[in-house]
Amino acid sequence: MVIDRINFLKDEINRANYLYYVEDDPSISDFDYDKMFAELKQLESEHPELVTPDSPTQRVGSVSEKFFPYKHKYRLYSLDNTYKYSDLKDWYKKIDKDYPNQEVVCELKIDGLAIALTYENGILVRGVTRGDGITGEDITNNLKTIKTIPLKLFEPADIEVRGEIFMPKSSFEKLNEENSANGERLFANPRNAASGSIRQLDSTITAKRDLSMFCYTAIFTGQSENAPKTHFENLMYLKKLGFNTNPNIKLCKNIDEAIKYCEEWDKKRFELDYATDGVVIKINDLAVQQELGFTARAPKWATAFKFPPEEACTTLTGIEQSIGKTGAITPVALLEPVNLCGSTISRANIYNFDEVRRLDVRIGDKVFIKKAAEIIPKIVSVVRDEEHFNRKPIEIPKLCPSCGSVLHPHPGEVNLYCENPECPGIVCAKIEYWVSKEAMNLENIGPAIIKLLYDKGYVKSFVDLYKLSTEDFMKLPSIKEKSASNMYNSIQNSKNNPLSRFICALGIRNVGKETANILAEEFGTLENFLNASPEDLYRLEGVGDVTADEIYKFITDSKTKEMIEDFKQLGINPAAQNLNTSSELKGLTFVLTGTLQNMTRDEASELIRKMGGKTASSVSKNTSYVIAGENAGSKLDKAQKLGVIILNENEFLKMTEGKNI
Ligand code: NAD
Repeated sequence: MVIDRINFLKDEINRANYLYYVEDDPSISDFDYDKMFAELKQLESEHPELVTPDSPTQRVGSVSEKFFPYKHKYRLYSLDNTYKYSDLKDWYKKIDKDYPNQEVVCELKIDGLAIALTYENGILVRGVTRGDGITGEDITNNLKTIKTIPLKLFEPADIEVRGEIFMPKSSFEKLNEENSANGERLFANPRNAASGSIRQLDSTITAKRDLSMFCYTAIFTGQSENAPKTHFENLMYLKKLGFNTNPNIKLCKNIDEAIKYCEEWDKKRFELDYATDGVVIKINDLAVQQELGFTARAPKWATAFKFPPEEACTTLTGIEQSIGKTGAITPVALLEPVNLCGSTISRANIYNFDEVRRLDVRIGDKVFIKKAAEIIPKIVSVVRDEEHFNRKPIEIPKLCPSCGSVLHPHPGEVNLYCENPECPGIVCAKIEYWVSKEAMNLENIGPAIIKLLYDKGYVKSFVDLYKLSTEDFMKLPSIKEKSASNMYNSIQNSKNNPLSRFICALGIRNVGKETANILAEEFGTLENFLNASPEDLYRLEGVGDVTADEIYKFITDSKTKEMIEDFKQLGINPAAQNLNTSSELKGLTFVLTGTLQNMTRDEASELIRKMGGKTASSVSKNTSYVIAGENAGSKLDKAQKLGVIILNENEFLKMTEGKNI
């Protein structure tokens, strides 16, 4: 029955609302909440007779009884939202019928908590949460601790300002780390951390939390002949008064331009240090806004496009122990498949067993997973409901999952290690690393093929890859001639890969791509590298003493010597790499951001290094140039702020043209 479904959805949404708005402790992801909300709205539109005033579709938020309630002079609304561009077009088309060719303002939808600030004659007199839109919580004292909220404006104005309180992502992570160390509760995301921090009864606690605010609208409560006529002017005026407005606001001619903005920020959002869950699109003309008016819970002149979820809630179904090339055993979370950022996720990182203990995650628990800049998502928090405490904590393994040897900790490290050099798990992981994109980049050969080759006894180390023939590959199940020959060719073609790739692929402890580059640049040939003395290694800039010791141990090991001999016999001869063949860019440090059209960022870095320059991953006042490709993000903003010279791709290419590399 429809009514049962409606009642079910209302109960579920109300319960989620309470946990989210009052307790700051959500039990489901925003994506799942929005799905239920959209279904309820749809059912109610098909059966208007079933809409009741207590339906969540008729209200916004909730008010906690912890604070003094304050009745808003001007009601605060929520926003309608969608995950589909086609809905944005429909929204605009509907308005376009009566108000053709409207400009719209696009703003990032800051994932924080809405507040209203009242200024009288330019002085802050009150700050109130949105609450249920009609009544909010008076948190003036707490808000006064936030430095981006002006206590006095640059001009005396009678104004009510609305904005979003947020906690930077980096501060949220730090707060959770501290809370975890002190055995206190962890926040599920920066929004809940911001909300929990601002709604403290003791404002000295709020003052210790790193909170900020972006303002996104103002209502003129005094004489209004000078009041702005458009939303964009409104935002500019707020800036003039001393408010913090978001730097990424854009005035767009029409909805197509707005959709481009949404597409652009869907990609760039991960570079920001604050959480944004979408883009708010508002009709620019305030007179048109006024004529369009509101529904029961949202303005008709604005809508929100929500980004595909960056965070999802799902169930932990198991823990797999994965073994790395160094023998480190890491837990991998197995999950009930869930949609995250547009893809289905069934595994997540937990890094190490210390983290398992810290999260106290148990099989069957509901967990929040998150995809930020990383490719593999990680578990960020665990729902501690009643059932959680009835489940058994996960046991820390004692034996290697691959060979059964006893695991050992390494001093000063959190990981447990298998120390059996013949462990099949370690051998396969080493070969997997050898073929990986970061190392020798052998396309067409993945973990499944390596496992087959190992199980059949064709390879016992990465050296053996070079002994394989096309026919050997064809003996593997379902491998046809074409793919067998592709695999064979990619192995053969790697024989003269650059020295840096070769050093990286060897899998020396602590030596990744960057250190391998330094070593290749310094020593130029494999022979020089293998003959390096401890002093040669200690003096290398960018290589720490511990790593230098590891490298020396590796190159002097008799097994390494045998392996190098085998490589020679098999015709593997890494290309000498005196990278600094020119010194045109000597002394200059470059930072790359965005997508380049004519080369990858790796290729551009290689070119810079070949010309004697350096690349760095973040912008500082020591950066000489920032090379900005398409969709450049926060690094570009920082460069602008610091006055670092910014080059586009063509300017960079011109700089390198005709140089003697
Ligand atoms: P909302 O957060 O989706 O949108 C409205 C709010 O957006 C405004 O009140 C304002 O605070 C904010 N906002 C941010 N930047 C803005 C800008 N530039 N201009 C205007 N407004 C801006 O709506 P809501 O009513 O606060 O909450 C509903 C949403 O909260 C749901 O869609 C869901 O994602 C989430 N929610 C989740 C749960 C859960 O259990 N996971 C429960 C309740 C609500």
